[in-house]
Amino acid sequence: MLGLMQAVPLTVDRIFDHAATWHGSREVVSRDADGLVTRATYAGIHADAKRVSNALAAAGIRPGDRVATMGWNSARHLAAWYGTSGMGAVLHTLNPRLFLEQIAYIANHAGDRLLIADPGLADLVGELLALVPSIERVVFFCDGASLPETAYPALAFDDWIAPFPAEHAWGQFDENTACGLCYTSGTTGNPKGVLYSHRSNYIHALMTLQRDALGLSARDTVLLVVPMYHANAWGVVFSAPAVGAKLVLPGQRMDGESIYNLIESEGVTYSAAVPTVWQMLLQYLEESGKRFTTLERVTIGGSACPESIVRKFRDTYGVDVIQGWGMTETSPLGTVSVPNAAVAAMNDAEQMAYKLKQGRLLCGLEMKLVDDAGQRLPHDGKTPGRLMIKGPTIAAGYFGGEGGEVLDEQGFFDTGDVSTIDAQGYMQITDRAKDVIKSGGEWISSIEIENIALGHPAVAQAAVIGVAHPKWDERPVLICQLKPGAAATAADLIAWLDGRISRWWMPDDVLFVDEVPLGPTGKIDKKAIRARLTGYILPFAADN
Ligand code: ADP
Repeated sequence: MLGLMQAVPLTVDRIFDHAATWHGSREVVSRDADGLVTRATYAGIHADAKRVSNALAAAGIRPGDRVATMGWNSARHLAAWYGTSGMGAVLHTLNPRLFLEQIAYIANHAGDRLLIADPGLADLVGELLALVPSIERVVFFCDGASLPETAYPALAFDDWIAPFPAEHAWGQFDENTACGLCYTSGTTGNPKGVLYSHRSNYIHALMTLQRDALGLSARDTVLLVVPMYHANAWGVVFSAPAVGAKLVLPGQRMDGESIYNLIESEGVTYSAAVPTVWQMLLQYLEESGKRFTTLERVTIGGSACPESIVRKFRDTYGVDVIQGWGMTETSPLGTVSVPNAAVAAMNDAEQMAYKLKQGRLLCGLEMKLVDDAGQRLPHDGKTPGRLMIKGPTIAAGYFGGEGGEVLDEQGFFDTGDVSTIDAQGYMQITDRAKDVIKSGGEWISSIEIENIALGHPAVAQAAVIGVAHPKWDERPVLICQLKPGAAATAADLIAWLDGRISRWWMPDDVLFVDEVPLGPTGKIDKKAIRARLTGYILPFAADN
């Protein structure tokens, strides 16, 4: 027997209709590359989004066609986002920080027909057009006065949408219709496209709005540091309008001072970003002696959150840090580390250990650990295995069938992460499968060593990678970038790690670099480090 409830399709245009109708006057603040701040509202952006749908239709864009954006977080980007997906086309977010060749590969693979880009990227767009014949039209996120001079035809966003009415029939398609396309950075092999559906984005927004997830509310002012081109900005592009949170979109400038000024001038209560952004912000606060007056909590994800960041935020500035784990293929949020009742009853030191884990699973998902043969492993907090995940917000395959079949027999997706799960249900990433260091047949967690090294007062960035060893297969080497003006020797670092990690995990060498290379999403680029270490031989390796 079927239930007797309304089968209203879960399409994301309804989220934005809701924001415009019931939170219409709530502000969306954008800052451009010159630091100029502009103010809009959900109702105003909703009207612009409808104009975008009409402009796209007039340009011959049909449902299912891919419309690319390549820009920083801004109100115009939000209007393009909903204007594209609301009319049934697919919003493809391109990451401008990738190499030209990678962007061209991705845009060609996606078959993008129209590109809306930040005016500061005009040169890059010119190079891209020569490589991506499918792009028929270029629009820049700006007004007519700021339109860059280009050798190719281009329109200013404001001029492009101005002639069109703020009415367009959105939705009216199946909730499983494709909504957005985002490519993973492809640290192994070519980038692969994750094709979100309206339904998956809608459900993900509801899942992340739980109090024990991102827990946004109508009273929050949200600084969206996570870029919109990175996995739906952790879904905040949907969840903030859904609840009517004020949105602050910081544009391109991510240095500590710019972020701090925006937090204070707009009264930001909540923010989300990768650890490197927070490290820059904390460093600025330390140097300037400034403090937060409104910030209550931050979500940190994308890479493991070092204890030093959690403590500094909490103990010095009274800001709660909540770690989240996820990936492009998981929409992206999968687990969040908030205390359950048992953990909340523990003492401070014990609670900290849980805060540093990647957390508990959101309702609606399933996860398991398996060995290389696909056999389930115990949830004992000790046994590492491949983390597999399943649910309505998890990819079932990649765009264009890249990578072939990606689910196991029970429909679980292989995350490529290696983790443990403890008796309380807390998952902890120990490595990415491709970064795992296998020494004498046992796994060494590079992430754990990195986190402890980062706790050393002189260390700004730390990366641990495996280097070939004649007897043990691989041994860990610690690569450190010191804070400006700070000094430390290899022996200092080894002494710091001594007693904090197992003896056999101790790095065989400590190397200092001016800058640990970061990838396009702000994560440590271990591939680049490995490339730099080509030919490097471990000290004493021959003797062991
Ligand atoms: P990529 O980095 O490959 O472009 P994603 O941005 O989707 O792809 O990153 C997903 C990966 O980032 C995860 O598989 C995991 O390895 C890592 N990651 C995300 N959040 C965390 C976290 N809180 N702690 C440790 N690793 C994390």
